[in-house]
Amino acid sequence: MAFETLMGDEAIALGAVHACLSGGFAYPGTPSTEIMEYLQELARRPDRGGALQPFVAQWCSNEKTAYESALGASFAGKRALVSMKHVGLNVAADPFINSALVKINGGLVVVVADDPGMHSSQDEQDSRWLADFARVPCMEPADQQEAYDMTIEAFELSERYELPVMIRITTRLAHSRSVVTLKPARAGNPVRKPGGSMDWILMPSVARVRWHELLGKQEKLRGVSEAHAANFLVLGDTKRGIITTGLALQYYKENLDDYLEAHGGAKPSHLHIGFYPMPGDKIRALYAACDEVLVIEEGYPYIERQLRGLVAPAKTIRGKETGEIPYEGELSPDIVRKALGLPANQGLSVRELVPPTRPPQLCMGCPHADSFSALNEAVAGYALHAVTSDIGCYTLGALPPYNAIETTVDMGASIGMARGAAEVGLKPVVAVIGDSTFYHSGLTNLIDAVSHNTNMTVLILDNETTGMTGAQPTILASSRLEPVLKGIGLDPEHIKIIRAHRNEHDKNVAVIKAELAWEGPSVVVLVRECIEALKKARKP
Ligand code: SF4
Repeated sequence: MAFETLMGDEAIALGAVHACLSGGFAYPGTPSTEIMEYLQELARRPDRGGALQPFVAQWCSNEKTAYESALGASFAGKRALVSMKHVGLNVAADPFINSALVKINGGLVVVVADDPGMHSSQDEQDSRWLADFARVPCMEPADQQEAYDMTIEAFELSERYELPVMIRITTRLAHSRSVVTLKPARAGNPVRKPGGSMDWILMPSVARVRWHELLGKQEKLRGVSEAHAANFLVLGDTKRGIITTGLALQYYKENLDDYLEAHGGAKPSHLHIGFYPMPGDKIRALYAACDEVLVIEEGYPYIERQLRGLVAPAKTIRGKETGEIPYEGELSPDIVRKALGLPANQGLSVRELVPPTRPPQLCMGCPHADSFSALNEAVAGYALHAVTSDIGCYTLGALPPYNAIETTVDMGASIGMARGAAEVGLKPVVAVIGDSTFYHSGLTNLIDAVSHNTNMTVLILDNETTGMTGAQPTILASSRLEPVLKGIGLDPEHIKIIRAHRNEHDKNVAVIKAELAWEGPSVVVLVRECIEALKKARKP
């Protein structure tokens, strides 16, 4: 039997390869980035992962294009995986939700990594709601072994029920390691187009039929859920019932011995849920057997809220809605301990060792620092100006010593927001965006600006990489940016390519000032390679 010590992200990638993946597609985003990085490593070295067939593993412009590429691979009868962070699913929501209505051909698995605690995200939304919204099955592994096993199973389920299947993980599982027992790799699907000629054409008359069929599948999926090994019910003490999901199972187990000691050995009745739609019968059985139920889940109170509609309101249901589990942030063994009514683990206190806070900073020598210095000087003479920005390392331009940017909302918003502000009279308006984010979802906003001749200036900080997630390559090389900008109709006189370096400071300030003074859409590209990308490229 073969074993490997794998991160959750790697376990998913290897599971996909052993399920005979043909196409992996992604846009980088913490904590899901390592899925594609590991897939790419396995694609380069088939001996390492034991793939039975070659497969593609590609970064894409954004999560929507990644999802649509995976959907195309599924249309061709091949197995495909698309991975993203939770906010990326918002970008891919259109194809994701609609793909539940086509007849999935080759297995399609969408892995979404949520980030409770917002370690590297702008919100902590819970993707289980979106799986439910799309009416597709969702699997939530409790450890790295399940991450591997569930990925393999997700492809089977996807083909059996002709639906995309979501795997939802969270940061701690994505980035921690444990030993995983491996299975033999499976042979790949041949290229085979779907049988029904209209099954992928979502015109209203077809979509109505497909929606009806999708609703009809829900009963079958609930049956899968009731019987699934990841949804297990162990009845014990009748006083308190516990429901755990995903990684919360480990936190519960970690505290169980102390709980038993504190309660004279009375083991709570326990239902663990790792497959959705929720197993209603098992939930009712637990509820019937206990005086009260505590729900321990990471993310939103997804189960807790639905529970209140599923069972008679005669008994107490505790969890996030009642304050036993915090609404915000990650779960931890200590939080679960407190919710179980156990005293704090005194021996583990590290209060005296709290390190001094250290605000995040740009790397020493980062080109963005020089770009912000030039921008700040260029706008200094204006009493009222606005600098919108975006998501990347340059978001740190909001902090001292730069204090250069005023907004960060979602990928690509810098250009759209600058455009809106300029259209209603704010002047001058600057949007600051990285090259990778520009291709992700800034480009279409710039097309709007060109179309409406909006008076604004876009600074594209071109470091030829997605720096924040570990220096993945930007979808197009720097040399191809200028032709793209010309191609969408920007006046070539107002596309300026300059070097983001302190030695060029005075010249750069003058260039930005000149474009601020010009009445129309303009772009200044500040080019210099990310220090981290440079280090990575130089590694043997
Ligand atoms: S990773 Fe690159 S872009 Fe990000 S702060 Fe460091 S040098 Fe700058």
